Amino acid sequence: MSFAFTLHETDGPARLGEIRTPHGLVHTPAFMPVGTQGAVKAMRHVDLEAIGAEIILGNTYHLFLRPGDELIARRGGLHAFIGWTRPILTDSGGYQVFSLAARRDVTEAGARFRSHLDGTQHLLTPERAVDIQARLGSDIAMVLDECLGYPAARDAVAESMQRSLRWAGRCRERMRELRAGGSHRIPVTNPGQAQFGIVQGGVFEDLRHESAAATVAIGFEGYAIGGLSVGEPTGVMYDIVETTARRLPERQPRYLMGTGTPEDLVECVARGIDMFDCVMPTRNARNGQLFTSEGRINIKNARYAEDDRPLDARCACYTCRTHSRAYLRHLYMAGEMTAGALNTLHNLSFYLDTMRKIREAISLRAFEKFRQEFLRSASRLSPDS
Ligand SMILES: [Zn+2]
Repeated sequence: MSFAFTLHETDGPARLGEIRTPHGLVHTPAFMPVGTQGAVKAMRHVDLEAIGAEIILGNTYHLFLRPGDELIARRGGLHAFIGWTRPILTDSGGYQVFSLAARRDVTEAGARFRSHLDGTQHLLTPERAVDIQARLGSDIAMVLDECLGYPAARDAVAESMQRSLRWAGRCRERMRELRAGGSHRIPVTNPGQAQFGIVQGGVFEDLRHESAAATVAIGFEGYAIGGLSVGEPTGVMYDIVETTARRLPERQPRYLMGTGTPEDLVECVARGIDMFDCVMPTRNARNGQLFTSEGRINIKNARYAEDDRPLDARCACYTCRTHSRAYLRHLYMAGEMTAGALNTLHNLSFYLDTMRKIREAISLRAFEKFRQEFLRSASRLSPDS
């Protein structure tokens, strides 16, 4: 089965759709839990399946350094190696090179960097990012792009955006070569793999428009908006998402990279986004920060020491069905590993439930009503804020 996107319904700019991949369907709008090193931290795959995760994200930078994409290809690709049968999206590795690597030097050729693990030196070129992801065999691969922080001067953003466009062209060309039969002896572990382009341009509307037009002209199976959620004000992020999404093809999926809070998901669906990923639900869970239908809870707070209520009375996840806030606080304070597992299970359930409710609201053409109610309850002051 190859890649396809079907748009079922729209409600204003909000879209209800379905992505078909070689490893099954993804209902959109979708949230992708982040499985950095071939695992979503503190979660077994069986738990992810139980809460309805239809797709996870793998980080190319981490998998390339350890255990290595060639080792994974010899195991038959990432799905076979990690035992996950549903869709996987991999990033290009660029973001971690820019945020994690010990030292990096970007030239037209690519990004030269030193591993944060052992200091070994590597060169990540656009072509290499495609090859690594071909070995991993994800269902959706991303092009290599350059990521700038915020704030950045307009000239620097423009220059970087143009370089990302040239890299995108090289990534697409490499993909064409691999699809045509691969004279490069790269094991393609998933021949149905799709490739997404990434729109850059920082917070400058005209640069975003230019990048969107040029990226669409190269031609990809889907399009991402990159370079946001890097420190810009939320309102600016929403404006850039709105103006960029409008310039992307209606019949192809749109992915907002690295965002965000539950409110961000709702607000960006309202601006035409179909796919999201973010470490927030998993990372915050391990730090005891929990999302509930009545705002955020910091479980280490003393007020929960003898609170026998579930974390979120409106959540049907295993954690909320089984355990009290008092027990969850105890596990967290005692440093039990189970705390991370139970908290992550809940936070991801909350995110995936939110996406389910979003999809239902769009199908009923009642998204705007859902959005207003969701934002009202999210903005209610939680006892810990
Ligand atoms: Zn729950």
